[in-house]
Parts: sequence; C-alpha cells; structure tokens
Amino acid sequence: MSEAFSGKFAVVHCGQLVTMAGAPRARRGPAEMRELAIIEDGAMLIADGVIERVGATHALRASLAKEKNIGIIDAQGCVVTPGFVDAHTHIAFTGSRAAEFEQRIEGKTYRQIAAAGGGIANTMRATRLATEEQLLEQTCRHAQWFLRTGTTTIEAKSGYGLSLEAELKILRVIRSLGQKMPLRVAPTLLAAHTVPPEFQQDREGYIALILKDILPQVQRENLARFCDVFCDEHAFTLAESRTILTAAKQAGLGLRMHVEQFAADGGAALAAELGAATADHLECTDVQGIAALARSNVQPVLVPASVFCLGRSHYPQARAMIDAGLSVVLATDFNPGSSPTTSMPFVMFLACQQMKMLPCEALTAATINAAYSLGLGDTVGSLEPGKAADFSIHEFKDHRELAYFAAVPNLPQVFIAGQRVETCPETFSRAVLQGEL
Ligand SMILES: [Zn+2]
Repeated sequence: MSEAFSGKFAVVHCGQLVTMAGAPRARRGPAEMRELAIIEDGAMLIADGVIERVGATHALRASLAKEKNIGIIDAQGCVVTPGFVDAHTHIAFTGSRAAEFEQRIEGKTYRQIAAAGGGIANTMRATRLATEEQLLEQTCRHAQWFLRTGTTTIEAKSGYGLSLEAELKILRVIRSLGQKMPLRVAPTLLAAHTVPPEFQQDREGYIALILKDILPQVQRENLARFCDVFCDEHAFTLAESRTILTAAKQAGLGLRMHVEQFAADGGAALAAELGAATADHLECTDVQGIAALARSNVQPVLVPASVFCLGRSHYPQARAMIDAGLSVVLATDFNPGSSPTTSMPFVMFLACQQMKMLPCEALTAATINAAYSLGLGDTVGSLEPGKAADFSIHEFKDHRELAYFAAVPNLPQVFIAGQRVETCPETFSRAVLQGEL
C-alpha cells in the first residue's frame, strides 16, 4: 500500500459514480439488478477508511468549502465502482498445472486427467508438500493478481489439503493472507473437495475424518466462516453432502455448495433444503432447480470462466435465474485446473457474451450481490455512507466498457479502506531491476 491519506479526503469528478446504493439486501430480479444508482460527476468524502458522504461533485465541494486539510483525488471523469467482490475462489495452492493445460489441448478430458492422478490430486500433492511460508508466498502472489483488476474482497476455499494437517495449514495461510495483504478475505472450509487417494477404498473413513477431526478443529481455531462441499457423482453424493453440511451448520458455519456442474442431480434442491447461502456452478440446473433456489432465497454463484476454460459450451441459465427473481452472483472460481483467471471483468464479459446478462446486471452480480452472499453486505459491495471505502477508478467513461473491453489489460486505481493499493508487485520489480551475476 502507498499514499495513505490520513484523515479525510474526497474523490471528485467521478464521471459515473456507480454507488449500488439501495435497500440493505442483495438485488433480485431484472429491475433491481439493472439499478446501479449512478451519480453523474459524483464525489465521495472519505474519513478514516470509511465513506462519510456521497453526492454530486458541486454539492460536495460547496459543503467542504470551509474545511481545511482535505486531500483531493480527481477522477477526471472516469468511472468509479465499488471494488469487485469475488465470492468463489481457490486461491491457496502451490504448483502449476501447465502440463495438464497442454494435455487438454491435445484432447484429454478433465476426468481422464483426474483418473491418471492429475487434477485436484496433482495440486493436493504440491500443496501438502509446501511449508506454510511457501504456500503463503504463492497465495500472496495470486492475491496481487486479484487486486490488479480491481477485486478488493474474495472468498477463499481450502480443499487442496484433504488431510487434517494440510486443511488446517491452508486455512491458516488464508488467515495470514488477510493480515498480510490489503485484500479482504472470507475463509471457507472445503475439505469435501474430493476423496483423497489414501481414502479411495474408505469414503466413510474420510467423511468421518471431516466430521470428527477437521470440522471441530476448524471451529476451535475459528478458521472458517463457511463450509463447502463438491456435490457431484465423482466427488460427494447428495447424502454425503447432506451429512457434512448439516454438521457444519450445527457448528455455526454458513453453507456454500458446488452443485450441478455436470448433471441436474438434485444438488440445487439440496442447497435449498439446507438453507445454504449459495449454490455455485449450476451449469445444468433446470427450471425445477431454479424454482427451489428462488423459494429458499439461495444465491446462485455463476462461474462462466470455468465453463469457458474447460472448453465447454453449457453455461448456466443466468437469464432464467434473474427472471425467476434470484439474486445472481458472479465469481471467477480461480483455481489451477478449470479456471486459471482472477479477472472479474473477464467473468463479466463471459456473463454478457455467453449468458446474455447485461453489463449492469453483471456489475451488480460482481459487487453488491456477491458481498451479501458472503455476509459482508453491510461493509462492502456498494459506495454508501458508513461502508468501507473499497473502490476502483477505472480508465473508462462508461461502466459498460468494464465488461466490453475486458480483454484489454486495463489497470484501475484500487483503494481498500481508503488506502491506495500498489498493484505492481514490489518483489517482482525489485527482482527484475536488481539482478546480480
Ligand atoms: Zn470451485
């Protein structure tokens, strides 16, 4: 971080100040999701990292005329939005899956690679071997990538440890990440990502480990806010998912679920039955599943970049979900196998291009709706008095260009709690500029 403004400062001449102000809940359905509450030539007054006032630049200027020692940031007519909130990431891992990327290009499927010991198991081996310091170092590197495109809050899952020690190590690293980096982090236990190799012949044994050892220890150390399960015929069945999530709920954790990525198998209905905060993926979810989510107010978290990166064409039915009154969320699903991207603009582009969401709906899904899905809607996701000053100044004059020009490497000015975030990694530039023979 740099350029700390102590005390008060104002951001003025925001060509479009996208405030997302409104009722204190996630936006549902097309009308609410299209309402961005934009202030033309807008301004914000920020004090001690919190937004104090929001309004038109001329009005704010007039009211501040007598105040002294107020720093000014001139946004020069650019678009200013809340920082992106990425509600589904697998940020903490080590190793690379570049070789598998090549294998997939040459025709191998994700499942064939997994059957040969690749996929999640590949990343699991590397992540288990890494020390806490090594894992933290690589995770911080990933965090820089998120910050660079304007993401200021993420959800972060474990799930590449799959043993008591390794899952705890990952969750401790996720906690350290939130302390070491300006990024806000909501931690999720995903011990039920897949059954690890040593339990292939003893699924019940692994589930017992989650219930009797991992979950209680995570609760004791207060290491997670949510519990997630990958519910799929190749991961955990509906019955196994229900068992694990019921225990997690009793332990006081919110619930998130990977469901119906490859088949409409009742995962969405289970998320509704359990009162999950979110049901994620939903590529195959049909009208009955959508209706079940709507009845229980479960937020769908759609991850189109993982569909795209797997080379598939079956995207979730975002339009039907929005029309059914759901408060849709977009996320990257950043992970080394199926979604190697940290860019919310890229996800918004895919949401528009492939799922027919409008740019305004995509922006809502990437900010305020995502914040509420993490239980953080009172703090972040919109630019309103009393909320954290987490925002980005983009180089565009029209907010729709955030999604439209997503493939352009535009680097916004990013602020978290009123502090400007340095998005060029210092360690990298130092290493490049100060090499020795
Ligand atoms: Zn995921």
